Amino acid sequence: MAVVALASVACGAGESAASQAPAASAPVQETPQSRAPVAATPTPSKTAPPAFDAKVTKVSRDRLPHSWRPGCPVHYRDLRLITLTYWGFDNKPHTGELVVRNTVADDIVTVFRKLYDWRWPIKQMKLVDAYKADDFASIDVDNTSAFNCRQATGSSNWSNHAYGLAIDINPRENPYITASGSTAHQNAKKFTERPMKGKGVINPGDKVVKAFAAVGWEWGGYWSGAKDYQHFSKGGG
Ligand SMILES: [Zn+2]
Repeated sequence: MAVVALASVACGAGESAASQAPAASAPVQETPQSRAPVAATPTPSKTAPPAFDAKVTKVSRDRLPHSWRPGCPVHYRDLRLITLTYWGFDNKPHTGELVVRNTVADDIVTVFRKLYDWRWPIKQMKLVDAYKADDFASIDVDNTSAFNCRQATGSSNWSNHAYGLAIDINPRENPYITASGSTAHQNAKKFTERPMKGKGVINPGDKVVKAFAAVGWEWGGYWSGAKDYQHFSKGGG
């Protein structure tokens, strides 16, 4: 009983001190000014958006009618479907789907929880099967996706996407750029320079890059020659 009473007093005292704090600390308050540009960015909403949520489940063959087939380097039984919350370009929460290798599913959840908590915007997130596993079509509609049993761009080797160990994020804002500086996507031409500002754009040193690096995923924007600004993969490549 005594502990409860003390705690209650302490709380009251704390509130009282807090209410006086702004006046007391006003002469040395540089913080609000220096934070003003941050506060000016759109705040999520007046009502609190839902907390991040992610479910990792086995993926059935019929969810991957185009992106998986016999002969792929990873069996679909070793892939996982992640159904997760992401923050949209419309400043609202959405539910998206990603397929990745079972061994990295938890790491990907860790990364996307950060992105959501930062309100870092993603245009859309559907399985590439929504585009019949056509990488170009998926990129053209700015779709974020991961697994796709296909060759690496400009190569006869399997892409890391074919192992479920790569993900492409906001591919329109973060295009694949050839060594000569061009993109195959007309709607991505204004996003070829780095660094540049823009919704969903990934720059060198960004917190997005760091969030992936923290779980051992490398960014294609650091490649020499061709650069793949949308691409993150486990161990690079
Ligand atoms: Zn990629």
